[in-house]
Amino acid sequence: MAKNILHCSFCGRSRDEVKILIAGQEGHICENCVEHAREIIDQELMVRDDKTANPSSFKLTVKKPVEIKKFLDEYVIGQDEAKKVLAVAVYNHYKRLQYKSAEAATKDEIEIEKSNIIMVGETGTGKTLLAKTIAKLLNVPFTIVDATVFTEAGYVGEDVESILTRLLQVCNYDVAAAERGIVYIDEIDKIARKSDNPSITRDVSGEGVQQGMLKLLEGTDVLVPPQGGRKHPEQKLIKINTQNVLFICGGAFDGIDRIIARRVQTNTIGFNVDKEQQEMMKKNLLKYVNAQDLKTFGLIPELLGRLPVATHLDPLDAETLRAILTEPKNALIKQYIRLFELEGIKLTIEDEVFDFMVEKAVEYKLGARGLRSICEGILTDAMFELPSSKEKFFNLDIEYAKRKFDKSKLSLLKVA
Ligand code: ADP
Repeated sequence: MAKNILHCSFCGRSRDEVKILIAGQEGHICENCVEHAREIIDQELMVRDDKTANPSSFKLTVKKPVEIKKFLDEYVIGQDEAKKVLAVAVYNHYKRLQYKSAEAATKDEIEIEKSNIIMVGETGTGKTLLAKTIAKLLNVPFTIVDATVFTEAGYVGEDVESILTRLLQVCNYDVAAAERGIVYIDEIDKIARKSDNPSITRDVSGEGVQQGMLKLLEGTDVLVPPQGGRKHPEQKLIKINTQNVLFICGGAFDGIDRIIARRVQTNTIGFNVDKEQQEMMKKNLLKYVNAQDLKTFGLIPELLGRLPVATHLDPLDAETLRAILTEPKNALIKQYIRLFELEGIKLTIEDEVFDFMVEKAVEYKLGARGLRSICEGILTDAMFELPSSKEKFFNLDIEYAKRKFDKSKLSLLKVA
């Protein structure tokens, strides 16, 4: 190479062979090499972004138990005990996640175990709402599954692994996010063992499913079919580690009050429990629920061992139902007022109407879920007619409410 002819220091091409030659301190670079370098940079950055981008889409926000409870209070009325227990369990769970990464650095030997939760309470008392609200606060992927759809592997129905498919789907297959998510398993009581003697018949949808859930709850690598359904050979499976997935189970456990009563009574024999105290205990026996009662109900001890935190929800009395109507952040009544507002109509509701709605919910045994149907029954006609009228105000008084309720289908539902 002649000394005075300039060359690209990267590809060696001479000045004549390239269009542009950029001079550096001790060499030159041609336009081809600049372009090539640009491609390498783009590729490198993309790979790194992929590695770091996913976790950031579900950024973990850990709050102190008191703050968690405060947040729950905004959406869920009453249920103080369940809220406290949940707040502590969730806080510890996510503390544990942080501690685990620190532990990797310090080689600390103490392992904090996972604290999956089981909630016992009548249907419609706020179990799902609590779990949903917690997930909203923490900004982690959350999914609700129904335990009744699962059957033991090999039988018609869904495999328990599909629980994780749902979790993956809600976070767009972001495995790292799914591995820190929360799963609410509803109707866990429906997979209770059907009989006390496990060997009599095969219990496809009961004990078998409980067995299947064990490994999921305790935390291992699980191979998950990305589209759900049964695993089949052509499907590529995704590996998820469930060690940091928080499972919250809930169920009504119909009849468990009798089991608790029996246990509490046996325990109190010989003690002087006065009548008044006995009556108090009878009122809300769920308060005393423990793992032993759940075992008697038909959950296997291994499963209970993986659900170390048990709590209960109180039945909703009239006072609570009334508060549910108006107080939570997105309370039903607030929603209707907003709906009317969007039509340019100011909706006012007389106090007596609230009492009437609650009275009907209690009378018809509709619980909190029924409040919505009652509101709909009363307000549908108004919502149908008002948008086409010129009215700017609508006052819902007791006569109107009674008239519309009596005309609605709900009034036929009355239980004898
Ligand atoms: P569960 O899971 O216990 O059967 P949900 O949480 O699904 O009941 O409750 C049904 C609906 O009733 C909720 O969407 C909510 O509107 C209302 N609700 C029930 N309990 C409460 C509560 N304690 N506070 C506020 N709303 C409640």
